[in-house]
Amino acid sequence: MAARILDGRVVAQQRRAQLIEQVGVFTAHHGVAPCLAAVLAGANPASRQYVETKARAAGKVGIRSETFQLADDTSEGDYLALIDDLNRRQDVHGILPQLPLPSQIDPQRVFERIDPRKDVDGLSPDNAGRLALGYPRLIPSTPLGILALIDYAGVGLAGTQVVVVGRSNIVGKPVALLTLARHATVMICHSHTPELAVRTRMADVLIVAIGRPRAIRAEMVKPGAVVIDVGNSRVEGKTVGDVDFDGVKEVAGAITPVPGGVGPMTIAMVLENTLAAARLQVEAER
Ligand code: NAP
Repeated sequence: MAARILDGRVVAQQRRAQLIEQVGVFTAHHGVAPCLAAVLAGANPASRQYVETKARAAGKVGIRSETFQLADDTSEGDYLALIDDLNRRQDVHGILPQLPLPSQIDPQRVFERIDPRKDVDGLSPDNAGRLALGYPRLIPSTPLGILALIDYAGVGLAGTQVVVVGRSNIVGKPVALLTLARHATVMICHSHTPELAVRTRMADVLIVAIGRPRAIRAEMVKPGAVVIDVGNSRVEGKTVGDVDFDGVKEVAGAITPVPGGVGPMTIAMVLENTLAAARLQVEAER
């Protein structure tokens, strides 16, 4: 039987409908709308498109957004000066440095500099450390979106075997910690993992974030597994994931498509994080 398709557009739409109400209440109560500031350095067309998509999505739920376009050769000092400025501004609640950054700017320095209460990516040492220690505050949006899709699939994670392929700070590591917190048994695989297929076949829930188009094939998946494909690559003008969707959907119990799976959830979660960040700051002022 073919897998159930976990449609991220549908789930994201449901979350956005709730968010419109919550943002409305926040804005009415505090007299100020939550505001997301995106910082874009350079002219990477994909990055520009991400920022525009996020800004449009923010506007639709009542979140204000500002975009700061910097030149490709902006110095690290100038970039950090902008971050300092945004940290100080009381009308800006979320700061989103669009990645990848130009090579002269160290992402670690950027995320160390952002006020952790404005870090809607959840990549500051403070937020990443809190997640690891089990008292999270702002959590990276893609892993949050993945968790929402697993919930939508109706899978209780406690006692299941989760296999995460990829160990990036923005997806692999935090999603492993989140599923661990839900009492799954978690294995993290990466480019040095031998016999990857043996490990992926153990997964009740398989989460793949490697940036290798269609690398996970049907024979690597346990029948009935929930498969979450985070990958997002362009191949011959098409957007494709890390999972061979056509083959794997015949084996899996549920699967996310690309596009239309994790991507829309990430955007919805950035917006939820902006409201969460705004609440943190307003509450701290009292
Ligand atoms: P990344 O920083 O590019 O790291 C890739 C990870 O995959 C690394 O841990 C690497 O291992 C591992 N890896 C690479 N090839 C592998 C292989 N053949 N077998 C096993 N592991 C392998 O990852 P990322 O930023 O998490 O991005 C991954 C993909 O997700 C990309 O396609 C990206 O565009 C997409 N993405 C999508 C969204 C969304 O919202 N849809 C959000 C974020 C990312 P090592 O650590 O050993 O090098």
